[in-house]
Amino acid sequence: MIPFSAGDRSTYLDKLSRQRVHILVIGGGITGAGILLDGVNRGFDVALLEKKDFASGTSSRSTKLIHGGLRYLKQLQFGVVKETGAERKIVYNNARHLVKKSKMLLPFYKGGTLGPVTTSIALWMYDWLAKVSNNEHKLMLKKQTARKTEPLLNEDKLKGAGLYYEYKVDDTRLTLEIIKKSVESGATALNYTEVIDFIYEMDKVAGVKVLDHLNQQTYELYADHIVNATGPWTDGVAQLDAQKNSSKKVILSKGIHIVVPFRKLPLKQPMYFESILDKRMIFAIPHDDYTYIGTTDTPYEEDKDHPQATGKEVEYLLQSCNHLFPKAPLTDSDISSTWAGLRPLIYKPGKSFSELSRKDEVFISQTGLISIAGGKLTGYRKMAERVIQTIIDEFKKTEHKSVPVLHEEALTDLSNVSGSEFKSEEEFQKLYSYCISLGRHLEVEDKTMRKLFDMYGTNTEQVIALAENYRGKVSDPELRLQMGQLIYGIQQEMVCTISDFLIRRTGQLYFGREKIKKYFEPLCQLLATELKYNPTQMAGMIADFEKEFEAVMLWKNEKTL
Ligand code: FAD
Repeated sequence: MIPFSAGDRSTYLDKLSRQRVHILVIGGGITGAGILLDGVNRGFDVALLEKKDFASGTSSRSTKLIHGGLRYLKQLQFGVVKETGAERKIVYNNARHLVKKSKMLLPFYKGGTLGPVTTSIALWMYDWLAKVSNNEHKLMLKKQTARKTEPLLNEDKLKGAGLYYEYKVDDTRLTLEIIKKSVESGATALNYTEVIDFIYEMDKVAGVKVLDHLNQQTYELYADHIVNATGPWTDGVAQLDAQKNSSKKVILSKGIHIVVPFRKLPLKQPMYFESILDKRMIFAIPHDDYTYIGTTDTPYEEDKDHPQATGKEVEYLLQSCNHLFPKAPLTDSDISSTWAGLRPLIYKPGKSFSELSRKDEVFISQTGLISIAGGKLTGYRKMAERVIQTIIDEFKKTEHKSVPVLHEEALTDLSNVSGSEFKSEEEFQKLYSYCISLGRHLEVEDKTMRKLFDMYGTNTEQVIALAENYRGKVSDPELRLQMGQLIYGIQQEMVCTISDFLIRRTGQLYFGREKIKKYFEPLCQLLATELKYNPTQMAGMIADFEKEFEAVMLWKNEKTL
């Protein structure tokens, strides 16, 4: 068992407060997770602190694609497309259970920005920059074939479509599985630990003051190097530093997604299309029993901790979608959930939002605080490499310190995340089939078992074994499985609250919100028993969850367009 149990949090914190680490990472999104893994792989002592739950920020609210970003070609950001495009294969191999290859259809219409020539050139460049293998090159489809490929498409003025490969991912679990792998390799990671101040030695940052939100205690932790990887919160954390950076580094753009049951928009494959309203590009992506649609891109200056979809944004997506798929018209009442995320973009004077580069930047303050901002989920490995290289360079500059690393090269391209310890595709398929058969024994549907495997990969058997413990005690097989997942989450994935489990570990708030109530009570009871929470603590956690449960549908109370 890896040392990543919610029951042992205070032990990990006590240990950390007694030992100075080489690198302390602030922020448990994909950026921080990537740095943690790269750091520990090279031989550094590394720790990560997250103020809420892992991936509770932007990293659970993306479009869930590992992609080169076709739209960045339009902005001539070839470097971003090339690097992230090349990363797709590496992330696919390293997180095999979480990343799914899928063909994406890009239709074009008379009067639209895209036509057969522009689409063909753009997709060719995309394939070329991303070094896509020959058998996965794009295809250009004539109108008739495009219609057959996606029968729900609006046929009026349709000219044809491009078909190309994209990679879907569970962003939240990718972040978590990277953190789990780092912890397995010797790193420490803690959720609900907020950095509230910095500690200095000779005018250089040498540590942090941390508030543990679960027991309200504060701790002082020390490190040779401290990295601010807090995405939308980058400027706020940098402001805690004594040498406050006066210039603004990060501005925020909000993007929302809406979720509808798959039967309401039963697409044959993911779609990438131009909105009739403003010619922005939008995705519609089938996912299990649902289809999600997004995203938007609007300036945001409100509460960073609670971004929400507005009625206007929801209406924009509905209208865009209904124009493209008139045979499956959607209304407000079809929406089962939403999410809203904040893109941390590097501010450049005079540039509009959509022109701002998605490239990441690393900057160091005079006190030595290293901050990284910008970037994409897809590029997390390369971002981590740049941060770790900066740290190695800094270590080398300090005469009295030698670089305490074993490897100067990043090893993350060969480092599978937790749950993806497959040696070959054959092994992956074999375990997949085996887990499906175990599911039959557990009396759950094959479909449920497939979803489980997509979440836990090589750790699925452990979850099933924990669920089997409830045979004879709990009659509903689905509840037995969820109880197994919850125990696994508490013991191996630092699940501390019911929100951690229902939102981040299993994604039920977004994909399955209407079914949450069914098992809510027994799951809360199990959590309270396992972590010895008293009724007041549990009431607080349930109230927090209920707020999040309501928040995804608050747009319904607003006036629409
Ligand atoms: P976050 O995930 O926000 O993590 C920062 C963390 O820092 C948070 O968890 C926060 O709680 C924590 N924190 C803040 N302050 C403190 C503190 N004082 N102490 C401790 N912890 C703190 N990229 C792709 O590659 N593919 C996509 O399909 C895609 N789609 C997107 C769609 C949308 C709508 C958006 C908004 C972004 C999308 N992106 C996509 C971009 C990608 O999601 C982000 O670049 C990425 O998730 C940012 O991760 P991060 O770790 O930097 O930030």
